[in-house]
Amino acid sequence: MNKIAQVLIASHTQQLDRLFDYLTPAEFGETAKIGARVIVPFQNQLSIGYIWSFTDYSEFKNLKSIVQIVDDPPLISNIQFQLAEWISEYYYCCRTDVLKLFFPPGSNPVKVISYRVNLSSEDLTDRLKRILEPAKIKEIIALLNELDGEPVKQWNRKFANLPEVWDFLIKQRIIVKTVKYASPKTKAKVIPMLCWVSAETEENRATGQRVRKVLLQEKMLTRSQLCAAAEVSSSVIDRLIKEGKVIGIKVAEERKPIGFSEVIPLSDSCRFNSEQAKVFEKFFTNDATRLFLLHGVTGSGKTEVYLKAAAEVLAKGKQALYLVPEIALTPQTLERTRLRFGEQVALLHSNMSDGERYDQWFNIKNGKAKLVLGARSALFAPFEDLGLIIVDEEHESSYKQEETPRYHSRTVVEKLAELSGAKVIFGSATPSLESFYAAQNQKYCYLSLKERFNQQPLPPVSIVDMREELRKGNKNILSEALFEAVNLALTEKEQVILLLNRRGYSTFILCRDCGYTLTCPECDVSLTYHLSEKVLRCHYCDYRQPIPNLCPKCKSSRIRYFGHGTQRLEEELAKCYPQAKIVRMDLDSTSRKGTHHRIYQELTSGEVDILLGTQMVAKGLDLPRVTLVGVISADSTLNIPDFRAAERTFQLLTQVAGRAGRGEKNGRVIFQTYNPDHYSLQLAKEHDYLGFYQAEIERRRDLQYPPFAEFVKIAFTGLNSEKVRQAAETLAQVCRELISESTKQTKKTYLDFELMGPAPALIPKIESKFRWQLLIKSKQPAGNLNNLMRNLWEQFPFRKFNDVKIIKDRNPYSIV
Ligand code: ADP
Ligand code: ZN
Ligand code: ZN
Repeated sequence: MNKIAQVLIASHTQQLDRLFDYLTPAEFGETAKIGARVIVPFQNQLSIGYIWSFTDYSEFKNLKSIVQIVDDPPLISNIQFQLAEWISEYYYCCRTDVLKLFFPPGSNPVKVISYRVNLSSEDLTDRLKRILEPAKIKEIIALLNELDGEPVKQWNRKFANLPEVWDFLIKQRIIVKTVKYASPKTKAKVIPMLCWVSAETEENRATGQRVRKVLLQEKMLTRSQLCAAAEVSSSVIDRLIKEGKVIGIKVAEERKPIGFSEVIPLSDSCRFNSEQAKVFEKFFTNDATRLFLLHGVTGSGKTEVYLKAAAEVLAKGKQALYLVPEIALTPQTLERTRLRFGEQVALLHSNMSDGERYDQWFNIKNGKAKLVLGARSALFAPFEDLGLIIVDEEHESSYKQEETPRYHSRTVVEKLAELSGAKVIFGSATPSLESFYAAQNQKYCYLSLKERFNQQPLPPVSIVDMREELRKGNKNILSEALFEAVNLALTEKEQVILLLNRRGYSTFILCRDCGYTLTCPECDVSLTYHLSEKVLRCHYCDYRQPIPNLCPKCKSSRIRYFGHGTQRLEEELAKCYPQAKIVRMDLDSTSRKGTHHRIYQELTSGEVDILLGTQMVAKGLDLPRVTLVGVISADSTLNIPDFRAAERTFQLLTQVAGRAGRGEKNGRVIFQTYNPDHYSLQLAKEHDYLGFYQAEIERRRDLQYPPFAEFVKIAFTGLNSEKVRQAAETLAQVCRELISESTKQTKKTYLDFELMGPAPALIPKIESKFRWQLLIKSKQPAGNLNNLMRNLWEQFPFRKFNDVKIIKDRNPYSIV
């Protein structure tokens, strides 16, 4: 008997997240393996699926057969397969949503839909009589004849105004829809090349002799290269091909991401100082744990430790994964890793083309690339033998994915390490509260680097109270102290970094007479003025509108701009320091591919005097000539009503401060603020991580927030505000009942659960969709939480709320 494959249909609906049995035709032999993508008949169509498992027995009769095996061999390994299953269970999401992360982009077979007319003209006339006038029948038959074999788009266009006829034709199966799968969109790139068939083959004519000589020398050339090199016309080559003297071959060409084109000479690794050596020794000799936290101040040489650890692992023939939080960081890290590992480095992040990612992906799969550098998506690269995972700047929020599957890289890394046996280094100057707590509790082994490598002291920080500045009559963005400090740095030909964590020009626009603020019609947020395009933009939905001359409400012309964004800062700086070369780095200025790379090059070459930008500038730049760092508004992250606001502020300030004084010259840092006494600022000023950790962990313990409890955020969105509210309240009600029922039972499974909400989200409307949320707080083991979630989903009346989207987010980064 044939094997029965249990197939997961590639669908994003929760109802289809189960396995369907299919026969495996004998002709597929051994190619049908777990993890392979297949094409199967499903609901009268063809669909892509994944072979999940095999079984000998199915309770269903008349099983259908798999039509095609897409991957031979499967592209996904056993370990990856287990990881995918685990993620879907842990984060309460469909397996398909997780599995898609593991395949190279654009590698799914492309769905091709076509329509066919199923009847002859006579039969058609007969049937159409039932609904159409004779004159109309002729017209429709002509239309069908015209459309037969045409693309779907044409059909849709021609029948757009005839919905009833179309419905009839489909229902009566007069027109049959067929789905086929063509080869994937992304493929390996091949270029046709020409060679001389063999050295023994002679040629009489002079033109041919030139071709022979060139090709024997160069081995292979493209047609145009050959024509140029041999100084012959294309027709000569055609003749030689006809005579069998020149032959064509196809050669794969790798598409290289930015930063890969330059050849980089390999450098030797460095010599460790005693702190680094101690850390390294502990990392390699401690086999009791796999998970390490490397806590080292900025510039202490963590990156060197990562690189040496990677070298060690590569020398054993294993692979290493090096995660960085943002693309902004990659140019420098890419350069450093390529200096050490050359061609063995692969790069994976979402700012690359599908083709580039596809080629990098296969370099990893076939073992050519040993060190994979990338953003969080690199977690799902096809490692065959992973020995080390590095998570640099492990505290960064970008390690949390904010779309389904809403995983946190740190959590996935722990699981991947368990499955693959790899060791992990989580590194940071400001570890997340969770990680430091894990180190305190011996879940992670703690490693620390207390001094900067070059013994440079951490830069002194001064705090400027902006309320004082106002009292003094200074209404500028720059305080007097920062203004003078920038001046000084510029005269000394040193570089300056200025952080302002708000993009755009001004952050809200207000009518002086009636107090009206301009808000987005689709979202409940104020509009930001963007200078370069001279428009108002919504930062949530990208709605744009021109600037009104008069207040839309009271028609007053006294419209004023408030709040400073990076564009405004750039403008003011240009006025204050006309000689300085200023570069802005934020989402708007870096949307084009390769911009980070260019900015980084301008910075290292010394062309740039002042780099200003949003939090992007705080991350990872190692620029020895930066001596001054200024934070324009240290409060911008503090005022977000979220339990991580203090932590984020402390991390951001410490990180950006760490950019100063990394070279020979001492650095200095200025924080401008309206909250000079806040503990995040005061402790960041002292570079006192431990002090901050202690203050913050006590607060979290008191409030029973992570890491002392776990949150699941359930978000509800939809166009109908009443429906959204009802869905949230119904789910909350079901949840409350489950909890109270369990307290009556002896086991009291759901005792330590708490519901927060439901309530409208902090931004109650985005893109015209209303938003509510509900938080479940759990102090119970994870198993109980999973049970509660399962019960909730079984009992919630989904059918009543078809038009409300419900999103589950476990351990959300932010709870607002
Ligand atoms: P971090 O990653 O902790 O910010 P880096 O690894 O970037 O620190 O090190 C800071 C600077 O010190 C870099 O310029 C790096 O090249 C240098 N450095 C660190 N360790 C060594 C070493 N062992 N030998 C020589 N230079 C080192
Ligand atoms: Zn007004
Ligand atoms: Zn909007």
